[in-house]
Amino acid sequence: MDLSALAGNGPLKRQLSLETARHGLSHAYILNGPPGSGKHTLAGLLAAAFVCTGGGEVPCFSCPGCKKAAKGIHPDIIRAGGEGDELNVARVRALRSDAYIKPNEAPRKVYILEHAQDLNQPSQNALLKLLEEGPPYAAFLLLADNAAALLPTVRSRCQILNLSPVTAEEAEHWLAARFPDKSPGARADAACRCQGILGRAVELLDGGCVDGKAQEEAARLLELLCRRDELALMEFCVALERDKWDRDSLTALLDQLILLLRDALVYGAGGAVEEDRRAQASLAAQSLSQKAALQAVELAEKLRTACGSNVGVGHVAGWLGAGLAGIR
Ligand SMILES: [Zn+2]
Repeated sequence: MDLSALAGNGPLKRQLSLETARHGLSHAYILNGPPGSGKHTLAGLLAAAFVCTGGGEVPCFSCPGCKKAAKGIHPDIIRAGGEGDELNVARVRALRSDAYIKPNEAPRKVYILEHAQDLNQPSQNALLKLLEEGPPYAAFLLLADNAAALLPTVRSRCQILNLSPVTAEEAEHWLAARFPDKSPGARADAACRCQGILGRAVELLDGGCVDGKAQEEAARLLELLCRRDELALMEFCVALERDKWDRDSLTALLDQLILLLRDALVYGAGGAVEEDRRAQASLAAQSLSQKAALQAVELAEKLRTACGSNVGVGHVAGWLGAGLAGIR
């Protein structure tokens, strides 16, 4: 079974390949692991394997079934439990009725159930019935952040696939293939900061233009802070509101500012800083005392929390300007 699209998880991939080669696919799996650990990638591969009509190793990635699965338009792959689609008893019962309608074109019909850990007991009991009494062509992929929240009776009907965090090297390797246009430094940084959760690394790299802009503006803000140019600092922050920055962009800017200030602190203490941020860190370390840099980090962290609640962007921007101008 070709599971190469899933990063890391060598033992799990070997186990699954071996078992499917020997006994074929199981009729129910629990894909267990924290958000961003690869549950959706693995579910996509397994779902494709169920509907593959290539005749050889599954998934073949080239038959009509695999292609439709990859595009998310296969009529025999049914997703439930996503945002705004609560898996309550009625929903699970509806899935049960649906399961008795034969597949449209594939040999199997696959149900991908997200956030399975959130199912309450009555829903889980309805699910148990479906797992036990569903037609033989029906297959189930339960995605769970924490499989321990599922009833033992449900777990015992499924094969449990535990996804593990990947190593920084595995993450870097995977990111190199997925983000060839990003700098090796940025990929290494994301691989290191994601703590083995690739979804987080993707988020860090995928910010796209917003992140680029946040990065640029954070560098400018730091420069103004280093120059102690109070007026320019206030003007910068007034412009944030005038240019209609939203909370997410402002949070990204604060994240970047914190990163730059931390670099300065690390550099000032003789530690190592990523090559592409080293010059900036050196400059900031020369202009800002450790106390001033720490004050700025504290301010930025406080404001980031404020961005997460319902404080308006104008307030946060004003607070940022006044706060930074007041740092000595
Ligand atoms: Zn195929």
